[in-house]
Amino acid sequence: METDQLIQFIEQKMSMQHIYQPLLIKVLVESGGSATVRQLAQAILELDESQIGYYSKRIKDMPVPVLKRHGVLDRDGDLVSLSVGKLSSDERYRILMLCEQKIRAFMLENGKDVWSARYESDPVSLSTRYEVLKRANKRCELCGVSEGDEGYEDRLPLHVDHIVPRSKGGSNEIDNLQVLCMACNLGKSNRDDTDFR
Ligand SMILES: [Zn+2]
Repeated sequence: METDQLIQFIEQKMSMQHIYQPLLIKVLVESGGSATVRQLAQAILELDESQIGYYSKRIKDMPVPVLKRHGVLDRDGDLVSLSVGKLSSDERYRILMLCEQKIRAFMLENGKDVWSARYESDPVSLSTRYEVLKRANKRCELCGVSEGDEGYEDRLPLHVDHIVPRSKGGSNEIDNLQVLCMACNLGKSNRDDTDFR
């Protein structure tokens, strides 16, 4: 195809159901004419505000507060920083390797289910959540900790947990739900279907 034809295609012929077509052409032009499918997918991800919004919220809800509570990092508004000082190259390498190992081991154990929460399109309703919390007297059904128990803040908040995970076909029915504190929930992990009630 000649350049004129490409321009004409973009201006007149491209029928769009989404932004993918111009985005792909743009990324290809920017990267000198060719890119891998993975690079194209990454370029689309960068523009997908719904994914960015999802992960921003997720990061703020979970890993940031947990790591902050352990003194690993600080958050100042939108800026997240490790609380350790400047790392030597050896330290940097060691920490990167350790994190990489942890990620790989977890993924080996859990498979692609690691990301399945991303596709949770059917969250537990507020009324079901309320019923489950009421049934458990607003306590963790494993360790018994309750919101407002002094000295146990690092185990909280309470979560409404799926006994059989959603990724394994577990339902949002009240019989498949239990209340766990954050600490017990983290200890439980996805492969364990124990009903702690
Ligand atoms: Zn607990």
